[in-house]
Amino acid sequence: MTPKEVLKLIEEQNIKFVDLRFVDFFGLWQHCSYPVSMFDEDTFEDGLGFDGSSIRGWQAINNSDMLIIPDPTTAKIDPFTQVPTLIMLCKIVDPITKEPYSRDPRNIAIKATNYLKGTGIADTAFFGPEPEFFIFDDVRYACTPNESFYSFDSIEGIWNTGRDEAPNLGYKIRHKEGYFPVPPHDSLMDLRAEMALALMKLGIEVEAHHHEVASAGQVEIDIKFAPLVDQADNLMFYKYAVKNVAKLHNKVVTFMPKPMFGDNGSGLHCHQSLWKDGKPLFAGDEYAGLSELALYYIGGIIKHAKAIAAFTNPITNSYKRLVPGYEAPVNLAYSSRNRSASIRIPMYSASPKSKRIEVRFPDPSCNPYLAFTAMLMAGLDGIENKIDPGEPMDKNLYDLDPIELSNIPKMPGSLEEALDSLEKDHEFLLKGDVFTEDVISTWIAYKRQNEVAAVNMKPHPMEFMLYF
Ligand code: GLN
Ligand code: MG
Ligand code: MG
Ligand code: MG
Repeated sequence: MTPKEVLKLIEEQNIKFVDLRFVDFFGLWQHCSYPVSMFDEDTFEDGLGFDGSSIRGWQAINNSDMLIIPDPTTAKIDPFTQVPTLIMLCKIVDPITKEPYSRDPRNIAIKATNYLKGTGIADTAFFGPEPEFFIFDDVRYACTPNESFYSFDSIEGIWNTGRDEAPNLGYKIRHKEGYFPVPPHDSLMDLRAEMALALMKLGIEVEAHHHEVASAGQVEIDIKFAPLVDQADNLMFYKYAVKNVAKLHNKVVTFMPKPMFGDNGSGLHCHQSLWKDGKPLFAGDEYAGLSELALYYIGGIIKHAKAIAAFTNPITNSYKRLVPGYEAPVNLAYSSRNRSASIRIPMYSASPKSKRIEVRFPDPSCNPYLAFTAMLMAGLDGIENKIDPGEPMDKNLYDLDPIELSNIPKMPGSLEEALDSLEKDHEFLLKGDVFTEDVISTWIAYKRQNEVAAVNMKPHPMEFMLYF
C-alpha cells in the first residue's frame, strides 16, 4: 500500500486510531496509538515523536527523542480491537540527522537485504519459519513446582515434568505422543483453527496447523515462505495473533523454547534459500540436489553457528531445548534424511523452486529480524569465502559412538557460551554495516548481565533436590 491508499483505507473502514509499532531489541512489539486526525501524507515522511529512553537496551542513546516513521506497506487492520484501529510498523529515525537508528532490529534486517543485493550473489533471501509453541490452560501448569516436580524417576533417570500425569481421565496425550492423533486426544484443533483464521485475516498465508509432539498442548501453525524482512514482520503479527486468540479463550501461549522438562521443546526451524532474477540458486547437482553455492551457505552457517546462536537461541532457556532425545539438534552437521542434524535438506519435492535448506537450531524466543539476519550473513560469508561444510551425516546422530561424535562440532551448551562465541566471531556480521560493534557489544552486555547472571545467581529447585 502507498500512503494515499492507507489514507483511503482509513476513511473507507472508518478507522479511528493508527497504532504505530516497532520491535525492541529483544523481539517484543512496542506501540503507541494516534488519532487518525494526526495523519496525512506528510506523516509518512516526517514521522511522529516518541521517547526512546525507556525501551530495554536502547537507554544508551545520547538523545532519547526519536521519530517513528510508519511503513505504509505494513498496514493491517487490527482484528482484536473494539475500536477500529490500523496497525503500521515503523522505522526509527534520529530527529536531527534523520539517520535510521542502528539498534532498530528491523533496520538491521533491511540493511542485510540491501547488503545481499550489493554482493550481486542474489537479490532475495526467502525464509520459511515453522513456529512451535505451547498453549496452556493456565501459566501455573508450566511453572509451579508440584509434588511430582520433586520426585526423581530412577527408572527413566529423568525428572518428572512439572505436570502430574495421574489420573488420566481419558484421551489425555502422554509425553512425546502428541504428534498427532485426532480429537478428542487433540483438544486444541478448534483453537488452532481460530488462530490460523486470525493469521489469514492479517494477510499471512497459512500452510497447515497441527498438534506437536509434546503432550502438554504443543502446536505448530505453518506459514508460507516470504522474503526476509516481510517474514520477520509476519512473525511479529503471528505472535500477536496467536497470543490474543489464546487470551480470548482464557488460555496462554508461550514461545519459551523449553517450558516442560521431559518433553519436546519448541523450535523455529528456518527454511531458507537464495534467489536471483526469479531463479532459485540452491538447486543443483551436488549432495541432495543442492548447488555448490548452497553447500557454501551451509558451510558458513556451520562455521558461525556458535556465534549466531546468540541471536537464534538467545535466552538461557534455549539451551535446555538443545539436548539429545527431543528432536532438537546438538551436533553441527547437515543431512538430507536426518532430523537429528542441525541442517536438513528437505526431499519432499524434486522441483528446483522448492530446493532449500532447513536450519533446525533456532527457537521461537528469538527476535526474527536479528536471527534471520545473522543466519543470512553467516551463509553469505560461507559463499564469499567458499567455506566447505564437510561431509553430510546421514546416520542418526544420537546413536554415534563417542569417537565419531567427538569429531562433530556442537551447538553451544549455554547462552554464556554462545555470547562468548559471538564476542570472538562477529566480523562477518559487520559487513555492509549490517550489525555494528555497538549492537554486538550492547547485546552481549545486556544478555550477560540481565539474563545469564540473573539466572546463575538464583538457587535452583534442582539444587534443593541434590544438595539441601
Ligand atoms: N520440537 C522439535 C524441536 O525442538 C521439532 C519437532 C519436529 O518438528 N519434528 O526442534
Ligand atoms: Mg513442521
Ligand atoms: Mg514441528
Ligand atoms: Mg521442520
